[in-house]
Amino acid sequence: MIVVMRPGAERAEIDAVCSLIRAEGLEAFLSEGQERTIIGVVGIDIDRVAHIGSMPGVEQAIRVTSPHKLASLEHQRDRTRITIGGTPIGAGSPLVVMAGPCSVESREQLFDTARLVRREGAHLLRGGAYKPRTSPYAFQGLGEAALQLLAEAREETGMPIVTEMTDASQLELFERYVDLIQIGSRNMHNFTLLRAAGQGRIPVLLKRGFGATIDEWLMAAEYVLSAGNSNVILCERGIRTFERATRNTLDLSAVPVLREMTHLPIVVDPSHGTGRRSLVGPMAVGAAAVGADGLLIEVHPDPPHARSDGDQSLSFPEFGGLMDDLRRLEYLRRRGQPEPAPAQLPAAVGSMRERIDEIDERLVRLIEERSRLALSIATAKGAGNHGHDVVRERELLRRARGGAGPMAADEVEMILAAVLRASRAMQRRHALGAAGALSTLP
Ligand code: PEP
Ligand code: MN
Repeated sequence: MIVVMRPGAERAEIDAVCSLIRAEGLEAFLSEGQERTIIGVVGIDIDRVAHIGSMPGVEQAIRVTSPHKLASLEHQRDRTRITIGGTPIGAGSPLVVMAGPCSVESREQLFDTARLVRREGAHLLRGGAYKPRTSPYAFQGLGEAALQLLAEAREETGMPIVTEMTDASQLELFERYVDLIQIGSRNMHNFTLLRAAGQGRIPVLLKRGFGATIDEWLMAAEYVLSAGNSNVILCERGIRTFERATRNTLDLSAVPVLREMTHLPIVVDPSHGTGRRSLVGPMAVGAAAVGADGLLIEVHPDPPHARSDGDQSLSFPEFGGLMDDLRRLEYLRRRGQPEPAPAQLPAAVGSMRERIDEIDERLVRLIEERSRLALSIATAKGAGNHGHDVVRERELLRRARGGAGPMAADEVEMILAAVLRASRAMQRRHALGAAGALSTLP
């Protein structure tokens, strides 16, 4: 800490500040300038002189070390990796997807969802048992019966489970059933609950309070860490702003900001963060792109009839689509590790697979031939004239939409549009004489 005295501060005021610092077991280093005196304070327990800024003669006291002792990168340079029921998260582990319903509603609803998210590649199963609802009249969750169902779903699918603890008295119950304890946004300032979770041995997923700054959130994490539980994961879930187009404002910048401040793993919840199904996918991909270690996604077999948060829950096909996008963008791949071998297929399927491989090869050769021609055309047109026949392309896309195959018109158009875009990017790159990689996504 640096204490800046007012210009012309009295000798007695300077001495009083130094005496206080030393009385608290810290060291004081005096630097007396022409105009004013500056006092450097050194020691571990800097909080003991937190009130020094209001002493007579002091202009300001500036903290130079982080107040988040245990969570900060100053305290620990190596990023924390936490293993939840066998699944690692943080410190460069592959993106962890935690998915499932907002609330556990019934055995059928939970098991259908668990099987589906498992099949699509999720790592953890979520499901609320105790729901901290804004209204006391809204569905409050099935309680212990839901914990029981979650544990059975884990038994069947092998997925560890994450669910919210709302009261310190539930700790013993949670230790029996749960792999990751969620502390909800409404409870981020519940210091009794944080301390209780800190005394347990189960990892904690600490959601950001919807009105909390990043500093306050990290101080909440300190409550858990300082009580003895070093397995804390932070979860950005949106904050309340003046914006009404979304349920909350998902602060994706919190991810890179936190990465500069803390070694703890960071998860993003785009479901509560946006409150709207159509926005969950784009923000999930965005979160992965800015460096999140995991995602928390609400999924429901029948979102319009969900007992809580139906508007923001993905349907099964929507969740599958998102997992495809995440894989396509590489976020779900294990860095530096081989993919697991694909399952053995029946012989008939195997021969169809070979045919598909042949077709894919032919497609690649056709695309190569197409690009050579496109390049010759661009060269023939001459430098500075690499315009495209947009009218012809539009007509081609229109015809592609009318196909008779099993693909939907939109899907055919997606493929063709990707070929056209990549071709334009290639022409531009050659026209500019640059050898850089393509930066646009198909
Ligand atoms: C939830 O995950 O279902 C939940 C209630 O989240 P939050 O605490 O972020 O509102
Ligand atoms: Mn919810």
